[in-house]
This record gives sequence, C-alpha cells and structure tokens, in this order.
Amino acid sequence: MTRGICILGATGSIGKSTLDVLSRHPETFRVVALTGNQRVQEMLELCKIHQPEQVVMASPDAARQLELLLRDAGLKQIRVESGPEALAGVARMDSVDEVMAAIVGAAGLLPTLAAVEAGKKVYLANKECLVMAGKLFMDRVRARNVVLLPIDSEHNAVFQCFADGRGVRRILLTASGGPFRTWPLERLEGVTPDQACAHPNWVMGRKISVDSATMMNKGLEVIEAHWLFQLPAEQIDVVIHPQSIIHSMVEYVDGSVLAQLGNPDMRTPIAHALAYPERMESGVSSLDLAQAADLQFEQPDLQRFPCLALAFAALRSGGAAATVLNAANEVAVQAFLDEQLPFARIAAVVEDALAELQPAAPDALDAVLAIDHEARVVAGRHLRRHAVSPVV
Ligand code: NAD
Ligand code: MG
Repeated sequence: MTRGICILGATGSIGKSTLDVLSRHPETFRVVALTGNQRVQEMLELCKIHQPEQVVMASPDAARQLELLLRDAGLKQIRVESGPEALAGVARMDSVDEVMAAIVGAAGLLPTLAAVEAGKKVYLANKECLVMAGKLFMDRVRARNVVLLPIDSEHNAVFQCFADGRGVRRILLTASGGPFRTWPLERLEGVTPDQACAHPNWVMGRKISVDSATMMNKGLEVIEAHWLFQLPAEQIDVVIHPQSIIHSMVEYVDGSVLAQLGNPDMRTPIAHALAYPERMESGVSSLDLAQAADLQFEQPDLQRFPCLALAFAALRSGGAAATVLNAANEVAVQAFLDEQLPFARIAAVVEDALAELQPAAPDALDAVLAIDHEARVVAGRHLRRHAVSPVV
C-alpha cells in the first residue's frame, strides 16, 4: 500500500524539493493533492508529471485557467478547486495520509491546522504557523496525537541529535548570516530585493530569503524551536556558521555536543522526515569535508541583525508578541519586496508594531487571527512613516 501525500505549497521551493524526493520512491508514496497560489503554468507541469487526484489554487482566476489547461492537456480527471475552504479541505481528504505544510507565511496556518485536526501525519516547513499560534498549534497536535516532523533544516538537525531530550543543556541553531553578513552597515539602506534574495548557500522562496538576510528567519526559528522542543529562550542559542554545513547542534550537560552535517540541500531534511524512523535516498550528494575544509563560527552581531534581538524579546515577553512579530514582519518584507520600504527599516516597522500592540496570549484561533489582522493594520501604518516613497 502506498502512502497518500498532500503538498500544501507544491509550486514553491520546498514543494518542488519534496516532489523530487517523492519521485525517487514511487513504490512508497502516491501524490494525492497539490496546492498553489497563482503560478498556473508551474502547477500544470507538476500535474503532468505527478498526476494528483486534486489540485487547489488559492486564487479562483488561477483555478479557472488551470482547469482549461488541464483539459487541453488531456488531464480533465484532475479536480481543481480554489479558495481557503478548499485548501483546508484537501488537507483532510480521506485518501491523504500525510501532509507537507510548505505554504509560506500566515496563509499556511488554517490548512495546516486542518491537517492536524484530521489526524494526518504532518511535515512542517511553514514555521510561521508555530510563531503565530505556537501554543494553540501544539495543544492541537498533542490532543490529536499527531506525528509532527520538522522540515526546517535546523530543527530537523536538532531532532536528529535530540533523542528524548534527557540531559540537554541547550540547542545551538546555526545561521549562515545571509548575503549581507560582511557588508558595511551603511550600504544596507540601499540594498535591492534581488540582492537580498541572493542567498549564498540556499535557493529559497523570496520571503524566507529576505528573512535570512535580516536574520528574522533565525529569530522565527528560535520561536519555532521553543515550541517544537519545549525549551525556554535561555536554552536556545544562535551561532553564525557561513558555510551551512553544520545544520544545528545539541549540547548535553556532560559537555557532549552532537551536530548534524550535510550539504545544504533541503532534500536531506525532507527525506529524513518522510522516511522516519527509516532512512531513504534523497538525491543529495555525499559531503566532501576536505573540500568544505574551513568551517567558521561567529557570534551574531545584534546591531547588524536587530530582527534577531526582536524575536528573542518577543519569545521572552510571551503573550501574543510572537503573533504580532510575525504579522508585522510579513507586512514589512512584502513592502520591501515591492520596493516601498528600505531593507534597513524592516526591523523598525516590526519594532514599532511590537511597541504599540501588547495583547494578551490568545486562547483560541479566532483570537490569534484577530491579533494577526490588527498587527497587519498597525504595521501598515508604521510602514507609511518609514517608507521611502509614498505607499499607494
Ligand atoms: P515559496 O515562496 O517558494 O513557496 C511558497 C508556496 O506557498 C507556493 O507554492 C505558493 O504558491 C504558496 N502560497 C503563497 N501564498 C499563498 C497563499 N496566500 N495561499 C495559498 N498558498 C500560498 O516558499 P518556500 O521557500 O518553499 O517556503 C515555504 C515555507 O517553508 C516557508 O514557511 C519557509 O519559511 C519554510 N522553509 C523554507 C525553506 C527553503 O529552503 N525554501 C527552508 C526552511 C523552511
Ligand atoms: Mg531554516
């Protein structure tokens, strides 16, 4: 019997890496459902290769276009739907056993929660889910007894080195430092979206690439690690390691430090999670340590990377600060990608939103969504103050 897989965010970087791994193991996995946002041509190509039962496009226009293209391609048996209800619906389908949660940002929360509620096995790439709704999400995971496996390379590395967590002193999340680690600070004001998205070691979606350049990505990952491994901020450290060969480490009370190494290729954590507790081929080449040779480490400079400090502060202050942080960051990053906000002001927008809004910890999904919405409105207002040109 093959295992039925749904990929939320199939047209993205993680989605495509997942499909690459799955296609190496057709005897084990069956692609049941794929979702995307607007990229119709890319989804058409994926449908031709993987022949899912069902596709959901977030945008209704995209869904209509895709339906016509599928008909022309002789693939009219593939059902196409659109909208948020349908996104959650595919995650619950009876023929789906396991869900890869690889939508970027807060848009991934509801479909990923739907997978959890339906008791599916969940592979979590969408870290924003845990940042915006960590307690609620993990409570539901426990209540439904769901198997949740981390895809984020650092968390997958920690998971591989963590065993049952006994005797852990701290975890060390590694960070590449992104493309601007050594740039003079004054040059950061004028960087372009393409410069920010040119990550030295990983090819990723644009939002996470900008987050890596500001190191907000590492901040989100600190919060993600807090929820996944149930550790306080004091037991989570970040170390810059520009080569991205060590994907993270776990230190034990006896001084042992266990690390997971490999070439920087997301197919390794994806294959690890899909096969767990077995192992399977991922298509990733062997690590050549002699060629990697020089592994460097340094402390993150919080003046260069204020977003990392903001994320640590949000985790420490609790309440709904992480929900506000995530929403304000999404607004600021989108404005930067739209060339309406200078790169160096992303942190200021997030900081201003955090200073203005200090809601209590949300006790239900509606409360999370309301805080997320309010934080976007507040961040939008601060954005106008920090913007270079008038925001239309
Ligand atoms: P991406 O931008 O390449 O892909 C995002 C996917 O989400 C696409 O399929 C897109 O169609 C879909 N999407 C976007 N907005 C949507 C919306 N409003 N409604 C429904 N679908 C929507 O991003 P990515 O790099 O693949 O990252 C996906 C997630 O995985 C992010 O949360 C990211 O932080 C996490 N992640 C990515 C990497 C990586 O190497 N790319 C590594 C670790 C974690
Ligand atoms: Mg990561």
